[in-house]
Amino acid sequence: MFEPFWKEVGNSATVVIPGWQKMSYFSDPKNFCWFLEPEFANEALRLHRIVGNAVTDDRHIIVGVGSTQLIHAALFALSSTEARQPVNVISAAPYYSMYSSIADFMKSGMFRWAGDAAAFNGDDNFIELVCSPNNPDGEIREAVCGNEAGKRVHDMAYYWPQYTPMRRPADHDIMLFTVSKATGHAGTRIGWALVKDAEVARKMGKFIEMNTIGVSKDSQVRAAKILKVIADGYELPDVEAGSKFFHFGRCLLANRWKRLRQAIEASGRFSLPQFPSEFCKFLEEHAETYPGFAWLRCEDQSIVDLEVFFKTINILTRSGRQFGVGPEYVRISMLDRDANFDVFIKRISSLE
Ligand code: PMP
Repeated sequence: MFEPFWKEVGNSATVVIPGWQKMSYFSDPKNFCWFLEPEFANEALRLHRIVGNAVTDDRHIIVGVGSTQLIHAALFALSSTEARQPVNVISAAPYYSMYSSIADFMKSGMFRWAGDAAAFNGDDNFIELVCSPNNPDGEIREAVCGNEAGKRVHDMAYYWPQYTPMRRPADHDIMLFTVSKATGHAGTRIGWALVKDAEVARKMGKFIEMNTIGVSKDSQVRAAKILKVIADGYELPDVEAGSKFFHFGRCLLANRWKRLRQAIEASGRFSLPQFPSEFCKFLEEHAETYPGFAWLRCEDQSIVDLEVFFKTINILTRSGRQFGVGPEYVRISMLDRDANFDVFIKRISSLE
């Protein structure tokens, strides 16, 4: 979806790495996260400061192969190799479908998936994954398990101004971000974690060392450049109006959500979540919420499984079942290329 922006900025976002550069495993041997490229760390922190979406003071920054690797790393760091019982991993339904897959994939003795956080009544030994704004439904969330003894990982992949108003800088013990949602560069495979506790950060770094011996320097250099272009668009005095990435993304998403809401309303068979407009400290005005996914609920009793129904008109969705709820829900991506989104709106409008 963000491709036209990056085409427009052209060479200013191009990266060239000579064959003799960035060859070593090491980026910053003095840092305990020795595979973190300082220029990437600086640009990530700079963008957080501009946007105001996260507290960065007194935080350790850990880079990962996407935030996916950082979820694995956080689960490892918050569990114990000594524990007799695996720690329970929970998240409030509807939850990002990968959480359950990641928690159970390795059949680890350290942690295991334990389902919906709202239904959890186990012991103190849990890790709650809190996604805010939430994938799939776009809700702003807090942890639902109030038990202080538990641990929490806050997945902030969508806490950027194109999707949602910036209410205040998030201030949690472990916060995960990723360029795939911030800038659209999913293939660069770069995520980062802001971590309060030094020991947890060290363990997360150790996991990445054991798993992939660090993170591609080439990707970090590219991600640094991408983040720099966005930050420059807001900080340099002489940039053109079209260089404001978050404004570009917001405008595109606003248009898509308007078209989708019109089509859904006309069909009379489905409903979408509603979001209050809130003050955005970054935009300095009241702003709407435009999630990266549409979380569609079926209101037509004759349809049993919404994913199957949409398949019959060639709309590919993900069933609510994958997110811990029922088949009356589906998740639809709002982030595809323009041409695909147009086809989607055309097909859904044919249901009137
Ligand atoms: N968290 C959430 C909530 C996501 O939606 C995604 C991607 N769908 C990820 C993490 C993983 O992103 P990546 O590994 O590309 O950084």
